[in-house]
Amino acid sequence: MAIATINPTTGETLNSFESLSDAQVKDAVSLAHKAFGDYRKTSFKQRSEWMYKAAEILEQDKADFAQIMTLEMGKPYKSALAEVSKCALVCRYYADKAAEFLGDVSIETDASHSYVSYQPLGIVLAVMPWNFPFWQVFRFAAPALMAGNVGLLKHASNVPQCALAIEKIIHRAGFPQGVFQSLLISSDKVANIIADERVKAATLTGSEGAGASLAAAAGKHIKKTVLELGGSDPFIVLASADLEAAAVTGTTARMLNNGQSCIAAKRFIVVEAVADKFEKLLLDKFHALKIGDPMQMDTDIGPLATHDILQELDEQVQKSINNGAEALLGGKPLLNMKGNYYPPTILTNISPDSATAKEEFFGPVAMLFRVKDIDEAIQLANNTPFGLGASAWTSDTEEQQRLISEIEAGAVFINGLVKSDPRMPFGGTKLSGYGRELSIQGIHEFVNVKTVWVK
Ligand code: NAP
Repeated sequence: MAIATINPTTGETLNSFESLSDAQVKDAVSLAHKAFGDYRKTSFKQRSEWMYKAAEILEQDKADFAQIMTLEMGKPYKSALAEVSKCALVCRYYADKAAEFLGDVSIETDASHSYVSYQPLGIVLAVMPWNFPFWQVFRFAAPALMAGNVGLLKHASNVPQCALAIEKIIHRAGFPQGVFQSLLISSDKVANIIADERVKAATLTGSEGAGASLAAAAGKHIKKTVLELGGSDPFIVLASADLEAAAVTGTTARMLNNGQSCIAAKRFIVVEAVADKFEKLLLDKFHALKIGDPMQMDTDIGPLATHDILQELDEQVQKSINNGAEALLGGKPLLNMKGNYYPPTILTNISPDSATAKEEFFGPVAMLFRVKDIDEAIQLANNTPFGLGASAWTSDTEEQQRLISEIEAGAVFINGLVKSDPRMPFGGTKLSGYGRELSIQGIHEFVNVKTVWVK
């Protein structure tokens, strides 16, 4: 895949970049290794000051960063602005909390003094996706750098300018040279970086294929990994739900980021008793969305990030329709528009056991299933290889408890939108990956939990 900025709104190639050579990658690893030697000894106070400064830069130049994101991957500019603010939030969160999360934990034993000490590992490689090109990186970088690690970023090939802008922010904030570097490389160089003895761990957010390949390379060298992979999240609506609120949130949950979010609601599972009503509400809300230039503040849906994504989504939808599904709305790319535009789409009558019913649709396509009762809803919700997040709507507390306990996912949100929040752990089960980002769990992923015993 070429490393280039191709504007998804126009199809125009705006900038392309040479991939780093093997020798340049080696130099970057050497620089990171050297930087770690001193950086690991810096105090939490010093790292916090730099991290606060990074948050300040993000907010100061928010408009510029948001513009780069929209230009490279097509998300509505208004959501790009919100994404930059969220990055500032996660920087401040870890700047405030790292010392507490990583402080020594005393444990009484037969020693005169025994405790757990959390120590940085060294170089952590982050392989990141284009869909939240700032947020995905900052939610890795803020805890990793606060813990005293140094980072190497291999960003997705279609967001090179985002990758370079992030590296610059971290340097401008005052972090020493080499503490965070963006490597403009293709994915075939990842395994060699992992094989380098100086690289201690890796994290990947992206597809299952990429995750499996990174984990295999890391497994070969016994290195720790965290994987944040795809999802086909259920959005369950039971009889006592507030249907209007569910339809409003369901629309946001499906359409966020032009439908390209791992935790987007992808399968709407609705009990028969309220299915007609909910279907109508959802149709109305999808109808009302404004498709257009992502730079305009009133645009809800911009283009998909790349032409390949548009084609893949179209193939999935056509496959579903050929297998008997019906498109209540949309169902075909918007060929009259210049960029990679796909309209809000609702598919019904999908056979729950068909291959496409279990796949992730990475675009503005909702699958709508009707079920008899909560048992069938839970069974269908779990009938997927993924397990990232689930949103479930009911005002019945017993039903809420069942959903919380029986849904196989890294998160269950009752009567609300599945979202990431620096204060709460984020991650998946099954093919959605393993390990957690954010909160105390996130910062504990890339540290050596050292047992100390002193007589
Ligand atoms: P992708 O193709 O897997 O790309 C993600 C990153 O992995 C990119 O940097 C890509 O580089 C790299 N990559 C691809 N193949 C690789 C390989 N064999 N070895 C090492 N690195 C490799 O993912 P995508 O399709 O662009 O992103 C969307 C996917 O990410 C969706 O499935 C979505 O659900 C998932 N996602 C998950 C989360 C989460 O937190 N769970 C968050 C966001 C997105 P190139 O660009 O150079 O190919």
